Amino acid sequence: MTIITKENLDTLEVYCSCGHNLKSVWISPRAKHRPIKFWYAIFWGVSGGKPDRIEWACRLCHEVVGESTDPEHLLHYRHT
Ligand SMILES: [Zn+2]
Repeated sequence: MTIITKENLDTLEVYCSCGHNLKSVWISPRAKHRPIKFWYAIFWGVSGGKPDRIEWACRLCHEVVGESTDPEHLLHYRHT
């Protein structure tokens, strides 16, 4: 697992099991919420909360190649 920051996002060379890197169309970021917070949000009808982290995962082999907890990434990718 690689930690992704806004400084290294464009230059990072990480590959999943089937050989795709962050620039591949198959690797996409997705927001991850801690389950306890997720259910709390549903219960109280809260939406638009910031995720805990962003994971970049391959849609072919489902391998997670990196994650970010950078506040700017959390805001930017929160609806993915
Ligand atoms: Zn893959």
